Amino acid sequence: MITIEHKKNCSGCTACYAVCPKHCISMQSDDEGFLYPVVDTKICTDCGLCNKVCPIENPLDLTTKSFLHYVVQNKNEEELTKSTSGGAFLPIARYVIERGGVVFGVVCDGEMKVRHEWEETIEGCLRFSGSKYVQSDVGDSFRQVKQFLEEGRWVCFSGTPCQVAGLKAFLRKDYERLVLVDLVCHGVPSPLFFEKYVDYHSVRLGSKAVAYKSRDKESGLGYQASVIRFEDSTKKYSLGMEGDVLMRCFFSDYCSRPSCYECAFKTLNRVSDFTLFDCWGAKEENEKLKKGAATNVFVHTQKGEAIFSVIQNQFEWAESDLNRVIDRDGIMILNSVKCPPKRETFFVDLQHFSISEMEKKYLDTSFVRTLRILLKNYFYRFGLFEWYLKIKKWIGKK
Ligand SMILES: Cc1cc2nc3c(=O)[nH]c(=O)nc-3n(C[C@H](O)[C@H](O)[C@H](O)COP(=O)(O)OP(=O)(O)OC[C@H]3O[C@@H](n4cnc5c(N)ncnc54)[C@H](O)[C@@H]3O)c2cc1C
Ligand code: SF4
Ligand code: SF4
Ligand code: SF4
Repeated sequence: MITIEHKKNCSGCTACYAVCPKHCISMQSDDEGFLYPVVDTKICTDCGLCNKVCPIENPLDLTTKSFLHYVVQNKNEEELTKSTSGGAFLPIARYVIERGGVVFGVVCDGEMKVRHEWEETIEGCLRFSGSKYVQSDVGDSFRQVKQFLEEGRWVCFSGTPCQVAGLKAFLRKDYERLVLVDLVCHGVPSPLFFEKYVDYHSVRLGSKAVAYKSRDKESGLGYQASVIRFEDSTKKYSLGMEGDVLMRCFFSDYCSRPSCYECAFKTLNRVSDFTLFDCWGAKEENEKLKKGAATNVFVHTQKGEAIFSVIQNQFEWAESDLNRVIDRDGIMILNSVKCPPKRETFFVDLQHFSISEMEKKYLDTSFVRTLRILLKNYFYRFGLFEWYLKIKKWIGKK
């Protein structure tokens, strides 16, 4: 039976929970807010299935039959704006929807819970667009995926590499109509930290939060902000990624799941059909991508190749230079983030500190940094961002 001796050995993928024939595993939150499997030993028959499907205990076969690499930008303005980078996911979802299929992705629901849901229309799939930098609650998605596949339907499942590997291990066989999409993954922040962050802004602005985006492109494709919307539509929180507490703690690696510091899923070849990640040098890759926002796409299977050939006309796209892509954008493909020495105290403090106290204790809040963040934000809003970048470059050269 599954026992979690070291938290770093469980990514919370839910494969063990989903496979248990006795339904005696529940996913329970620890005091950092991450879900772990807990076995009811009174019901467990010690059949060992949960151990068999754990993708950390049993690494999956990663021999690949195909490996293609592209950089893409969705031609549909609405889809491009709603997505994190180049909007690669929605055309893959559309391929499945057009065949009467079901798409699983991650939403931040009206109760501000980040979780996996499924949709049968492309309008519904717009809710999946945009990364939510919080670990999603997979719930019963793995069992639902299996049920739809057994009914003969197409299914697309998107998630972090550990979730996708967990699903593949849980299914224990290949399905022709299953399309797997994973991401290059930095790590996943704690749902408890996210809850406190949302509550903090709700109290500060006196209204219930109803929607969240980690990287909203409302101010333009080149500047991304964390945005929370509230029941009172006159209220809004919006701050550039470099100033937002959640994003800063995420990039400083204080709030990630223990398994993310020794991630077992950092590989070039994957069990997925597609791997998506940010392209930070679109113009450098191809003139056609001059608008800027673009996604790197790795295609790992012949099924993925066939799908890409059908959807490619929805993108501006080009083959990418693999070495350049890995050097420039791909540090997180193969490397886990380092665990900061203060991570332990971070989670102890989170129990009783406010978000602004956490910010003061763990992040640089100096006057110069705060001024830089504010200037960047205002320059963008008033259309002076290009000038800001030129001045910054000029100062850098001096
Ligand atoms: C937790 C996390 C960490 C990431 N780390 C990196 C990184 O280090 N480097 C990098 O280049 N890219 C990273 N990405 C991927 C990046 O943010 C974009 O998702 C990617 O560039 C694809 O963008 P897109 O515009 O093509 O698709 P989008 O339209 O943005 O599609 C996003 C897809 O991600 C799924 N998704 C959203 N939130 C989550 C979540 N919390 N958990 C699982 N799946 C989710 C959605 O279901 C959807 O299918 C990360 C994404 C997540 C969610
Ligand atoms: S050993 Fe079998 S019965 Fe026990 S928890 Fe694992 S899957 Fe369930
Ligand atoms: S990694 Fe997944 S399968 Fe393994 S113990 Fe954790 S939740 Fe269960
Ligand atoms: S870093 Fe690894 S363990 Fe952490 S969420 Fe991403 S894929 Fe899973």
